[in-house]
Amino acid sequence: RPQYVPTTTTTPNRRPAPPSYVSHNEPIRDIYDKETGNKYSKGKILGKGGFAKCYELTDLKTGKLYAGKVIAKTRIAKQNQRDKFKREVELHSSLKHEHVVRFYSCFEDDDNVYIVLEKCSKKSLMHVLRRRKKITEPEVRYYIKQLMSAMHYIHQRRIIHRDLKLGNMLLNSYMSLKIADFGLAAQLRYEGEKLQTVCGTPNYIAPEVLKRTGYSYEADIWAIGCIMYALLDGKPPFETPTLDETYERIKTNKYYLPPTLSSEVKLLIAKLLSPEQHSRPSLKELDGDAFFSSGYVPPMLHPSACETAPHFNI
Ligand code: ADP
Repeated sequence: RPQYVPTTTTTPNRRPAPPSYVSHNEPIRDIYDKETGNKYSKGKILGKGGFAKCYELTDLKTGKLYAGKVIAKTRIAKQNQRDKFKREVELHSSLKHEHVVRFYSCFEDDDNVYIVLEKCSKKSLMHVLRRRKKITEPEVRYYIKQLMSAMHYIHQRRIIHRDLKLGNMLLNSYMSLKIADFGLAAQLRYEGEKLQTVCGTPNYIAPEVLKRTGYSYEADIWAIGCIMYALLDGKPPFETPTLDETYERIKTNKYYLPPTLSSEVKLLIAKLLSPEQHSRPSLKELDGDAFFSSGYVPPMLHPSACETAPHFNI
């Protein structure tokens, strides 16, 4: 019988074939930071945004995993795009907080700009809600407390995020919340400065932003109200088939509070969604609100809470 002879020989140290998720027009190449000498290998894709593609990166020296945002230079060719990108990098890189996606470095090669970030392997609250449809009040306490502590830190630095939404609330493997995407963020030049315009379309836009009457930190507080509502009811408070109708509802403060919610959370959402910006609670007042003391706050969540409602043995 003829002996089986392999047709290819394996060379030691040869790279394995690229996995199927690597598209064929994108050869795998290591990513090299010329300034620091750090080298990364590019792994699976973690997500795609309007500007960037995000990949898992492995630091070839330490073996540590990161998320790498890759932005093609052609995407930031215009001066205004470059300015916007520069501002995002400046603001995000100045932040270091347990509940803000950590910014490690930014560098470029001939084709792309790279941002090396803390990896959040459990995706975002948008993905959780897609699977779960609605989440429970104890879970809302868990996530919103973490969001509040990050926002306190961000506002203290005179930064307004301006695009807080479920898709920007990332989760790491321990289900710890991390705020991402400072692409629409702004830093006030002085305390008390009022902003007028936003370049971009924030998801949970506050009425004072739409009315162009001047806005500040309270626009982020409004968005926290929208996030809480969406987590508990499965859809945002002012959702309609068209953007114009949604904006009209926001301006006239027309929304419906589901009667199934606890009276504490209904009261709190109503305060957060006050049409008048100065009537909304400050982050400190929010932290002291009865909703957070009226029920259980889980100290941690199991990753299975991405798919199924957790049972708390209390
Ligand atoms: P863009 O600036 O184009 O809006 P994003 O910042 O939204 O890009 O990133 C695109 C997608 O990549 C996100 O929707 C998310 O799914 C994923 N992503 C972004 N940052 C991380 C991260 N730190 N860890 C894991 N996935 C991330």
